[in-house]
Parts: sequence; C-alpha cells; structure tokens
Amino acid sequence: MVRVRFAPSPTGFLHIGGARTYIFNWLYARQKGGTMVLRIDDTDLERNTEASRQSIFDGLGWLELSWDELHHQSERAALHRQAAEVLLAKGCAYRDFTPAGAGGEAEGERERTGAPWLFNPGQRETGREESDRRSRAGEPFALRFRAPRESVPELRFEDAVYGPQARSTGDVEDFALVRSDGTPTYHLASCADDADLRITHIIRGQDHLANTFKHLLIFDGLGVARPQFAHLPLLLAPDGSKLSKRRHGQVVSVTAYRDAGFLPHAFVNFLSLLGWSPKDNREMLSRQELIDLFSLENINRNNAVVSYQESGTEDWADPKALWLNAQYLRTMAIEELLPYVECELRVAGMWKESYGAAERAWFAKTVDLIRVRFTTLKDFSRRGAAYFSDRFAIEPAAAAKLDQPGARELLRELSERLKRVEEFTEESVEREVRALAGERGVKAGVIINAARAALSGQSVGPSAFAVFAAIGKERAVQRLAGGAC
Ligand code: GLU
Repeated sequence: MVRVRFAPSPTGFLHIGGARTYIFNWLYARQKGGTMVLRIDDTDLERNTEASRQSIFDGLGWLELSWDELHHQSERAALHRQAAEVLLAKGCAYRDFTPAGAGGEAEGERERTGAPWLFNPGQRETGREESDRRSRAGEPFALRFRAPRESVPELRFEDAVYGPQARSTGDVEDFALVRSDGTPTYHLASCADDADLRITHIIRGQDHLANTFKHLLIFDGLGVARPQFAHLPLLLAPDGSKLSKRRHGQVVSVTAYRDAGFLPHAFVNFLSLLGWSPKDNREMLSRQELIDLFSLENINRNNAVVSYQESGTEDWADPKALWLNAQYLRTMAIEELLPYVECELRVAGMWKESYGAAERAWFAKTVDLIRVRFTTLKDFSRRGAAYFSDRFAIEPAAAAKLDQPGARELLRELSERLKRVEEFTEESVEREVRALAGERGVKAGVIINAARAALSGQSVGPSAFAVFAAIGKERAVQRLAGGAC
C-alpha cells in the first residue's frame, strides 16, 4: 500500500517548488490508490508562523489538491523522544555534553582533525555508564548519531530519479538528533515520523538528496524498512540560480498565481511539467490524464527553469503557464469556468447577483464570447470590464480608433438609429451600420472599429455585432452617443 507525504516547514509562503513536490506525491498516491499524507513540519517554534501555515492550506486549497491524513510534527514530540531512546539504547547514538556554543563544532575543528565526524573529541568515546550518570545529574547534552566508522561501509540506495547512490559512512559526520534544549532535529523528527506513518515513498526536492544517507542510518538504526526515494530536480530562475523565496520573492509564491488570475488546474498542469513529461510529450493534460500518465521514471534529472519576467508587467508569469492558462480558459466547459469568473468579478467589485439568476444565460453567453482572446481570469475584470460595468478604461489603441476624423459623429448617428430599432439583434445592428456607412460614403469597417472601441474599450475582440448584442441596446445607445465613457 503506497503511502506518500508532503512535509513543509511553515516558515514562509508556499513555494511553487513545494507545490510541485505536493503534486508529484499526490499524483503518485492517486495513481496507486495510495494515501497522501500532509505533515506540517512545525518543530522550529522560532521560525514557524501562523501566516505561513495558512499559506500552505490556502495554496493547496486553491490548487484543489486533497490529502487523506493531516499531521503536525509539533504534536508528535513523544514519538521523537521514543525514537531517540531507541537509538541511544541500541548504541546508534551517544550523548554529547559539550556545552552548546563551546566551539566544538567550529569549522576549524573539522579541518584541523581532518575527520568530519569528530566534532567534539572525547564525546563519542564516553562510556555508557558515565554518560547515564551525567545525564541523571542533569547535565545538558545533545544526542548525536554514531555513524559507523570501523569498517567504513558504504551506504547505498537506488533513487527513482537519480539512480544508484552511494556514500562511505566515513563521509557522514556524527550529526545531531536532539539539540541540547531537548528539541529533535529535522533528521530525527522526519525519519521517526516517516517510520511511524509507514511512508513507503519519499518524494522530495533534490536538495535533500545528501540528507538521505543520514536518513538511511536512522531508519536502519530504528530497525524499520527503508522507504523508496525519489528526488525531484530543482526549479531555477531564468538566470540559473535556485528559485528561492528570499531571492525571488512573490514570483515563487503559489498564491501570487492565484492573484494573477490563473485557473487552478492550468497551474497544476504547468507545475506537473516542471521536471516531468509524459512519454508522448503532450502538454495539456486533465487531472485524470496526469494521474494515469505520471511515473517516477519519467522525471527528468535536469533542473527546470521557470521563465518569469522581472519587469513586473501584467504577463510576468512563465510563457508556458500563461499559454496553458489561456488554453484552458478558452476550451474548458463554460459551466466549469463560470464560478471562477464569478469569483474574479466579486474580487473586482463587478459581480451582480443577477448574473447568477435572471441574467445567467446572458452571463454565460458573454463569458463564452469574450474568453476567446483572454489569457487569465484577470482579463474578465480588466479587458472585459465594459461587459460587466459602466466604468471601464479605453485602451490607447481603441482611443485612436475613436479619434479618427468623423468617427464620433458617425457613432452618434448610429446611436440615434439604434434607438429606433425594435429588435436589437446582431442582424438588425449590422443592417443599421451598413445603411449608415452607405449614406455617409464611408467603409462599414470604420464604423465597426469605432463602435467596438466605444462599446468595449478594446481595439480588438469578438465580432463587433456580437459585442453589440452582449452589451445590449440601452448601454450601446448610451455609449455610442457619448462616443466613449
Ligand atoms: N520539512 C522539510 C522541508 O520543508 C521536509 C523535507 C522532506 O521532505 O524530508 O524541507
């Protein structure tokens, strides 16, 4: 039975690399009929924040990703202590009584001795009886793993992505398991939890590959089966640096994409393709297709570049993310799209309850009409503002159409004619436009382009007659008479 986990430390907003790790775990669990465990690694009480914990839930919730079990590491302290005791009792760990900050762990010490494990000379060799006595006397200590030295055996494992891995235990230092204040280190807490939660596959970032050797020692020391490992390639910024919250800010935050108008599934699709692709290289994949096609073997070892723009323009996100979003926006079932558009209009203060009731058919038809050229949900409240509000901007290219000599006059005349039209349809509007053009000796296109600009504030868009129909007689007559808002 497959059991996987995502184990974020709540010390900043949810990183897109974290979300990608979540997705790979989730796809694997769903494909294998396994269990997805969300474990919040909140043992670092000084760095944890509630806002960060919330951003994990907000981000995963927005991406519509589920989990089957939720655990908080901070509530599992007894289990971590128990694991430490097991390792101590078996002789896999020893107490290090060097006062914290006494300099024993200084870099220089390691260099001087040439032995990376000999942090604090004499501690590893302290006999058990003396160690117990000092501990009973209340002397503070850190607990360290006693990495095997004698025969310097090799630690080996097969990474599902990076292949066979080996390291001599001679290169693994006597790493800390419990700090002198009694708190467990990440290595101990994580492995004790992974063992207790019966995690079968650890799928996580490549930056943890080197830690895995320490983790193997802990799993072996605890006498539990080693899980399988799959490390994921890193996400890089366009300049080749590792994508990090500290250096790259909001661009790596999942919620920044929500706020930029991405559809949850389009973004999941994009993240899935960072370091993985299906055998047939298809790019647009439904959730079920992702579940069916996902495989650890097809994960790429090369790091994946997220090509965002630093310029802060509207389209700052990776071009593939934007492309995928536009594809979904234009092709998904209209009924599925409407709730997202509603949400966007609510945020922008443009939602009217009637769109969900009496005007629902109009709302669906209008969204369907204008979505064809849109890229993100933001476009509905920006480029599509004229459909949902009387307050909308005229973009410069549209203003230029209105400023053509004679254009505003023609629109005023058209407005008068349309007032008298009884049945306001695409056909009747077209008849009036062509009749006016004929009478004034101008090309119909001049009137059509100016009308589109006046009605929608945009220079390009759907067929102008469809725009008339969507805006409706009353608003069209008003906007044409004003020439613009
Ligand atoms: N809390 C660790 C992190 O956020 C978990 C790493 C792991 O998956 O083992 O990096």
